[in-house]
Order: sequence, then C-alpha cells, then structure tokens
Amino acid sequence: MTFSDLGLSQKVLSAVADAGYTQPTPIQAGAIPHALTGKDVLGIAQTGTGKTASFVLPMLTRLERGRARARMPRTLILEPTRELAAQVEENFVKYGKNHRLNIALLIGGVSFDEQEKKLERGADVLIATPGRLLDHFERGKLLLTGVEILVIDEADRMLDMGFIPDIERICKLIPFTRQTLFFSATMPPEITKLTEQFLQAPVRVEVSRPATTATNITQRFVKCGSKPWEKRERLRSLIDSQGDTLKNAIIFCNRKSEVATLFRSLVRHEYDAGALHGDMDQRARMTMLENFRKGNLKLLVASDVAARGLDIPDVSHVFNFDIPTHADDYVHRIGRTGRAGRKGAAFTLITKADRKYMDSIEKLIGQDVEWLDGDLSTLQAEDGTDEHKRGRGAKRDSKKDAAGDDKKPSGRKSRKDEIKSENAERKAKQDKPEPRSEPRKEQRRHQREEDTTVGFGEDVPAFMKIPVRT
Ligand code: AMP
Repeated sequence: MTFSDLGLSQKVLSAVADAGYTQPTPIQAGAIPHALTGKDVLGIAQTGTGKTASFVLPMLTRLERGRARARMPRTLILEPTRELAAQVEENFVKYGKNHRLNIALLIGGVSFDEQEKKLERGADVLIATPGRLLDHFERGKLLLTGVEILVIDEADRMLDMGFIPDIERICKLIPFTRQTLFFSATMPPEITKLTEQFLQAPVRVEVSRPATTATNITQRFVKCGSKPWEKRERLRSLIDSQGDTLKNAIIFCNRKSEVATLFRSLVRHEYDAGALHGDMDQRARMTMLENFRKGNLKLLVASDVAARGLDIPDVSHVFNFDIPTHADDYVHRIGRTGRAGRKGAAFTLITKADRKYMDSIEKLIGQDVEWLDGDLSTLQAEDGTDEHKRGRGAKRDSKKDAAGDDKKPSGRKSRKDEIKSENAERKAKQDKPEPRSEPRKEQRRHQREEDTTVGFGEDVPAFMKIPVRT
C-alpha cells in the first residue's frame, strides 16, 4: 500500500513525499481512510508507530475547504504535555507546508498575550494542553462551538496526569456533531468509559506495541542497594561500563525531585548531563531537548511525564534509575531506544523493594528479563562484604553522597591522610607568629595604602638616592 491509496489530497501527498515517507505505517493505513470520511476513530497505538501523521494528514486534507474565524478554532488537538503539543505543531508545519493554515499552540509556561493574538487571528488548528485551553476559555478568549474535528491524544497519559475531568469538560463544550479522533496506548477501564461517552460508533484501529517484542533492544535488570547513593553509584558504574557503545542515553526517574538530585550529582561527577522535568519552564525544556537531539548533550535525566512520546530518533541507551511503578511505562521508556530497527540497550536498577513492579513488567511483556550480574538473592552477601571493606570512612562518604555532596571516589583522601595534614597545618600555625590584630578601620586603611602607588613607588631614579650634603 502507498500513501496515494489512502485518499489524501495532492498537497498532503507532495509534503509526505518531500518528508521521504513512501509507505504508510499500520496505524496510518488503518486510520487515515476512516478519518477522511468523517468517522470517529479509536486508535490504540503508542508513539513511534507514526500515529501523529495518522491524524495530522487527514486533518490537513479536510481543512483545505473552509476558513477560520476569529476566536473560533476549526480543529482542536489535546495533548498531555507541552513537548508533545510542540511536536504535533512541528508535524503540522512539516506536512502542511503546501497549505496556508493558521496554527495556534496553547501551552503553559509561555505568555497569554501571544497566544491570544493567534486566537484573535482565527486558528485552523489549535493544539493545546487541557489546563491552558480552559484558562483561555474562562478568560472569554475562545469559543469552542466552531470545532469540527477534535483529537484526544495519549489519553492514558492524560488519565495518569489527572486530566480526565478537564477532558470531559472540554468535550461537552464542543458540538456533538464534531468528528473525534481518539488515541491511547492502553485501554484501562476509565479510558474505555470515556470513549463510550464521547465517541460515536468509532472505527477501532489497533497496532501492536513494537517495544515489547523488539529483539534489537537488549534488556537487563541490575541488582542494586536501595539507598539513593548506592543507586547513583551503581548507575555511574553502569554508564562507565558501556564505554563507546553509549552514544546517548535517557535516564528515567519516577519523581521530578529525583530528576533534579540525580542530574546535579551526575554533573558534579563531571558527566555530560541535562534534566527534563515538569517544573522547568517551557523555554528551558525545549532548549534542553534540542541540545539532546542535536547530540550536544549525552545524558538526559527525565521523568515519564516530560519524556512521554518524545521523538528522539537515535538513543543508544535507556537507564531506569527507578523501576516504573506502572508496567506500561516500562514499555514506553524502553521504546525510546532501538527505534527504526537500530540496536538499543535498556538497563533497570532493581532494589529489594522493587520485586512486585519487576514481576508485573515481566508479566506484561511476556518474558523474563535477564540479570546483568546475578539476581537480588546475591545482593545481601555482596552488601555485607562491601560494607566491611568500605569501613567507617565509606559510611561517612555515603552520607555525604546522600546529602548530594558527592565527589569522585578516586579524589577522596583517606582518614589517615586527613589527620596527618590537619596536624601539619596546626604545627605550621604554631611556628608562625600570629599577625598583629588591628582594628578593622586600620586594616582597611593599610590595605588602601598598599594598593595605591605613592610618588615613584619602587622605581625611584638612582640620582634621587644620592645623599645630599648640607
Ligand atoms: P510518531 O509515532 O507520530 O511519534 O512518529 C514516530 C516517527 O516516525 C516520527 O519520526 C515520524 O516522522 C516517523 N514516521 C511517521 N510516518 C512515517 C512513515 N510512514 N514512514 C516512516 N517514518 C514515519
């Protein structure tokens, strides 16, 4: 099957050809023909399957007829994160280069004014995160009664982020006669309920998860102590052990506070790292991402929310610093590597408390993940020996590390050396006479005098030094 079999317009087909795509992906082949006839579509697919184009291409074709009116967007695409929204905008720009469409992006972290101006001009395509969209609506800057096509993307992620009440509210503000294109990687009961409520006789198009069975990704579980410093140390040794095969990596944490701590620690250890989490402002997130994409940054520490659906074509490694608590997230995370048939590696640190999550991941992906160097049962014995070997000094260092004050182990002094140098310092002080303590004002005056050159300073001409006979 080729793109021209799908019923897309000439303008769209030519942009697709320019993008270099010759064959539609399964989700595109399944969804596009139905979307073009105006039917509701329920697409069960995750990012990496070409799902964005599966709604962008038919939308562009359908938008060729008609014009936008001020404050009344013609289509609305809801995305859970700002990055995903920005990525969809990029797709509209790429595939819509032969169209003259107004695209407005309503996302948090940027000023309302610019966004209002775009709405005022009339938007053919409005891409938004739910919160910011409702903010504009409540300010009276937006009418949703003109929306002909509604896209809800990454619905299960919206659920995780607590956006479902917002989605329900938005759906009720849009005419019932609209077309709805709905995408989700998984179908938990809450999402099924939502589709039953807001979709009309949808065509269901389901594509398999590519990441679960991908044989080009080497997956390994890595046993690890549960203390934060132990995990950081283990991660560093894992990164180092990968040598040149590690081109770039995403390191996933479960919480944004952990993202920040780990990022700081890696930088302190002189790793080329950046961070991506929900608390960063939009510009910082985009810059970080761009640097990572361009290869200016080797390691990106990220949370699921920030990294969901990011289209980074060539990531050699994924590290799960924290094991994901939802097995689905594991699939999404490791799907960041091994894209387009390339080789990839995914390592997950596992502590004793992680057993239950580990089991549910293996159940979901239907395979046992190999351990890198022995499973959890070998952890206890090694813990004991390590602790014994490391001794008191090591414990002190670990506390330092936990406080985020860690340094490279090779750079550390032993306690014996420390005591020696402290004693030497004390002795040197005793040998030297204590400087006269001057009142502060005096000290300042002396300092001023030392700083200013008086007369010739030290360069007094020799003839002036000849004693004068009186
Ligand atoms: P998505 O699932 O929308 O995030 O797309 C994943 C990647 O696949 C993006 O880099 C797209 O540019 C690319 N892509 C989309 N459609 C095709 C296609 N038909 N053939 C090859 N690559 C595609």
